[in-house]
Amino acid sequence: MSRASDSLPTTAYDPPSTRRETGLEGPPEEGAGGAREIPAYGAEGVGVAASHGLHVQRVLGRVRGAEAGPTLVLVAGLHGNEPAGVEGLRRVFAALAAGAGLRGEAVGLAGNLAALVDRKRYLREDLNRMWRRDRLELVRSAAEEGIALEAEEAELAALDAALSRVIAEARGPVVVLDLHTTSAGGPSFGVLEDTLANRDLAFELPAPMVLGLEEEIAGIMTHHLAERGYVTLGFEAGQHDDPASSDRAEAAAWIALEAAGVLPEGRAEVARSRRRLAAESRGLPPVAEVRHRHAIAPGDDFEMAPGFRNFERVEAGQTLAWDRHGPVTAPETGLLLMPLYQRQGDDGFFVVRRVRPVWLGLSRVLRRLHLERLLSVLPGVRRHPELAGSFLVDRRVARWAALELFHLLGFRRRGPAGERYLVMTRRLERSSDDTEGFRLD
Ligand SMILES: [Zn+2]
Repeated sequence: MSRASDSLPTTAYDPPSTRRETGLEGPPEEGAGGAREIPAYGAEGVGVAASHGLHVQRVLGRVRGAEAGPTLVLVAGLHGNEPAGVEGLRRVFAALAAGAGLRGEAVGLAGNLAALVDRKRYLREDLNRMWRRDRLELVRSAAEEGIALEAEEAELAALDAALSRVIAEARGPVVVLDLHTTSAGGPSFGVLEDTLANRDLAFELPAPMVLGLEEEIAGIMTHHLAERGYVTLGFEAGQHDDPASSDRAEAAAWIALEAAGVLPEGRAEVARSRRRLAAESRGLPPVAEVRHRHAIAPGDDFEMAPGFRNFERVEAGQTLAWDRHGPVTAPETGLLLMPLYQRQGDDGFFVVRRVRPVWLGLSRVLRRLHLERLLSVLPGVRRHPELAGSFLVDRRVARWAALELFHLLGFRRRGPAGERYLVMTRRLERSSDDTEGFRLD
């Protein structure tokens, strides 16, 4: 172990503070292996963590290779009731610290520390719905002015600061894998914003990939990072407390390490991880897109019908849940995703459907041709007067096919689906080798 580990925090629990504390005090020393091993669960914890017998710190591990290269940031536990990713990363960093010939850097960061200790999704506010410009500006200025932040605002400030630090110290492109679990059982799957660079990473993982979730949910961390040009992927590793979920999260991390170019090809862990995910993904669509989100309003008394699993086929009109208005039915035939079997959360379920491979190939070709300048000739479509790279689509005029065309060309919908005018914005498309000039702001 290198001397750089002397500067690491010694407490196992790193309480969120109003200071811009990152747990990453200075770049780690480079050298053979350049390993910094930090156990996720320490033996001698302090503060809140000790009283619960669970210790989590912000930096789950950081290993910096002698040779410059990409930085893979592995995030786990953005939701406190999802410890599987933390455990998976703890294992990965324990193995990496033994001294792999890394290029660039691997960093593991824990998300909602206080909620992880309490095993709750969140204490006051969902940490994976807060990554919006206004909220970030608020917590950053509060942190700078020494104004006390509490609960998830303090977590947001601390995690944002840690990410900014890692990005500032990166010696190559930055890639982010965000590990989650779901309240329902079923196979693991990835969640990506449909840029070509994100696809290149995602398709290395032999698991179904789901497109379009970021159009339905505002304020997620990976979207915030994707908008700044980083390659991102979310990974749902199975049911929260299933021991297999830690294994799947670990598998996803190993594959991402190789896919990002941090690990040289040929590690046994990567091959084993691919086999594991591939075996569990048999018969599932390689790519699916979100067709419907059932949003829960406060006081809805939403209750999912028992026994549903991720990727279970549902028929249009089938009763999936109940709330105070009566039965909640599937609006169309498709595959059910993330049925809610926990108290916290405001997404009742999603319905997704298979994306045909021809669509993926076609969209790859069309995006390279930059046809977007032709979009304003479509009926009901005009350039957005203020937002660069965006179009206004009048749903009373534009045909349904026009929206499909936008998706094909790499645009995403901003704002709710029900409005007369939809705002479609082109996703930032960058090659994974090209991250210069990007920073978190
Ligand atoms: Zn989650």
